[in-house]
Amino acid sequence: MALNPSQHGIGMTSQRTRERLIMRLREEGITDEVVLAAMLEIPRHIFVDEAIASRAYEDTALPIGYGQTISQPYIVARMTEILRAGAPLGKVLEIGTGCGYQTAVLAKVSQEVYSVERISPLLMKARGHLRELRARNVKLKHADGNFGIPELAPFDGILVACGATHVPQELLQQMAVGGRMVIPVGSGDQTLTLIERTNDAYIQTRLEAVKFVPLLGGTS
Ligand code: SAH
Repeated sequence: MALNPSQHGIGMTSQRTRERLIMRLREEGITDEVVLAAMLEIPRHIFVDEAIASRAYEDTALPIGYGQTISQPYIVARMTEILRAGAPLGKVLEIGTGCGYQTAVLAKVSQEVYSVERISPLLMKARGHLRELRARNVKLKHADGNFGIPELAPFDGILVACGATHVPQELLQQMAVGGRMVIPVGSGDQTLTLIERTNDAYIQTRLEAVKFVPLLGGTS
């Protein structure tokens, strides 16, 4: 049988290499088996340019063009694990699709995923990657994610993949009661922050220091 390198991988993009990354994520403290299984399944190397595909299973952020980066696998795992809190996710909103890798992970662990990206050519790239993986429960939108997607709210989970100076009010409003949002917050130093919406309050928990590209306004 002929091997299709983009699916089976050769050398640095093989299943073996991906297994090593999952082991590393475990060592770094990721414990949610559902998240680890999803990341074992998804080929990260198809989300980056061929020239750097051999680095796709290093636990590091990599450039994806337009001044943006594919998030580090540890942070993708950590944010997904926090959002899941050990239970299946229903309707999820992601802000900052980038190349679509985090989107693909969310698609594996959620009923439906809506992802918003402000840079049109990046969104087109992501669309191609997600089509290749046949992720059918994902819808992408070219828009300014600061405003969420009001017509589809409420969301059980919201994952913001870029650093915000403050939590956008619109995103808070679009959370379901009982829903969770994970978002890097801060100007300069950023802190990964969990927000839980209860019947009558938003409970904010600061988790760990992170470094994300900024949440910007408008589209391009
Ligand atoms: N999870 C993505 C991360 C990409 S980096 C990945 O792993 O590839 C963050 C992304 O957020 C960038 O693509 C950037 O263009 C996007 N972004 C920044 N501000 C935004 C906004 N207001 N609305 C939508 N996307 C935004």
